[in-house]
Amino acid sequence: MDELIESYRRFRAETWARERDRFETLAERGQSPRVLVVACSDSRVDPQMIFSAVPGELFVVRNVANLVPPYQPDAAYHGTSAALEFGVRVLRVQHLVVLGHALCGGVRALLEGMPPGTEDFVAGWMGIAREARDRVLLRCEGVSDDARQEAGEQEMVRLSLKNLMTFPWIREAVEAGRLRLHGGHFGIPSGTLSMLDEAGDFAPVPDTGPGDQRPFGGSNR
Ligand SMILES: [Zn+2]
Repeated sequence: MDELIESYRRFRAETWARERDRFETLAERGQSPRVLVVACSDSRVDPQMIFSAVPGELFVVRNVANLVPPYQPDAAYHGTSAALEFGVRVLRVQHLVVLGHALCGGVRALLEGMPPGTEDFVAGWMGIAREARDRVLLRCEGVSDDARQEAGEQEMVRLSLKNLMTFPWIREAVEAGRLRLHGGHFGIPSGTLSMLDEAGDFAPVPDTGPGDQRPFGGSNR
């Protein structure tokens, strides 16, 4: 904890001192992020860092394996769905990005078996992806473990995008052109982002290019 407190003091001395105006404006005017990101809880995948975003720009939901459950408005505690509802219906974000990533432990557990100590919640949560896992295992027979792992990570993104469209107010916003859905995959060792294209494949984003090719972000800073 001492380390955390020390880091907080550094934040106060450096970041807060520099960004104070931004925070004060955000406090006064409220937040109006244009982008909602569903990412994994993995400590190596920080959407704010990857998209060079500052506070106020990204509404971020993180969970195990960046999964979106299907629309299920019942009495269960739906943390991810609640965040989606707030982001889409209240904040009215214009872009929604599902961000998968390399070396995802959730996907590994799904493909290779749940590690001990995950019985209470993780196993049930990953049950969202049971069918997707079967598809990947079938398609990836005979390929290397690494290739199968990556195929699994990409399939999680496609599955989450598919499940997003089961939420009536997301489908409605997409069909009305008010909301665009995107899929991405971040390569931890390479630091590269790939985006899902119209054909359903992941293609690396070039390191340079005109700003208007950016799928989202790019707000004035
Ligand atoms: Zn992960």
